[in-house]
Amino acid sequence: MERPLPTLGDPQNTIAVLQKYGFNFQKKFGQNFLIDTHVLDKIIAAAGIGSDDFVVEIGPGIGTMTQYLASSAREVYAVEIDQNLIPILKDTLREYDNVTVLNEDILKVDLSALAQERNAGKPIKVVANLPYYITTPIIMGLFENHVPLESITVMVQKEVAGRMQVGPGTKEYGALSLAVQYYAQPYIAAYVPPNCFIPRPKVGSAVICLKLHDKSPVQLRDEKLMFRLIRASFNQRRKTLVNGIANSAELPYTKEQAARAIAKCGFPASVRGETLNLEQFALLSDVLLSE
Ligand code: SAM
Repeated sequence: MERPLPTLGDPQNTIAVLQKYGFNFQKKFGQNFLIDTHVLDKIIAAAGIGSDDFVVEIGPGIGTMTQYLASSAREVYAVEIDQNLIPILKDTLREYDNVTVLNEDILKVDLSALAQERNAGKPIKVVANLPYYITTPIIMGLFENHVPLESITVMVQKEVAGRMQVGPGTKEYGALSLAVQYYAQPYIAAYVPPNCFIPRPKVGSAVICLKLHDKSPVQLRDEKLMFRLIRASFNQRRKTLVNGIANSAELPYTKEQAARAIAKCGFPASVRGETLNLEQFALLSDVLLSE
């Protein structure tokens, strides 16, 4: 079926919509709307959206990227928290018969149930120009809740895209880097300057595509335990790992158990979590399970 071509993305059309509705941007919702058609084309290409795809969009705003997604995908499900945007979306998406808009906080939506219901349980694609204030909880939530995912293609702060790709020995290395490595293969599809948005964000942005692994790069007995361990390490990153583990409210181990497990892994007694790579965290979590 022929679908209408997107009209938003052109700054003049975006401004006309904003004026028509007297829309006030809400800082607390991280609202920076895209006004660059080249960037929008790049996002759709990076996500590889095809006519078979069921796509979840987080934070459609006034529907700019939603129009692009709806032109290419089978079905788009867009979740927007700001109720002031709902009548606008009704207007800007009125010609698309394959879009559903839900007025809800994405962190409260059960995307696994949605994939089951709308995509026969098959992996879905997530695409978003993310609200930067909750980038990490959104991405970690998608991974840790085991939403059936094919890929996540998102606009994030440039610095966060960097954090997703680094290993031990850098100050950007953290729980997000390890989660991305464990679950997906990241690649940066574009760097996007502030003038591609209205209003302009204070930071540079990047489009990152996370393609989910068919098989994780490390095998381990208890994934949840490994991520508790990782959080314990980076919540207190200047502390030794022994203390990080013993002080964690999420972990049941004593200082003696932690020290014994660290020694069994062959790590120095004073090791800090930030120096360990994914394989080493996986090993330590398996050893701790036997404590
Ligand atoms: N997709 C639009 C675009 O590219 O022009 C808007 C992107 S803007 C950076 C982020 C959007 O996410 C805003 O529309 C904001 O209201 C919405 N948002 C913020 N927090 C949200 C949440 N917890 N759940 C769903 N949407 C949220």
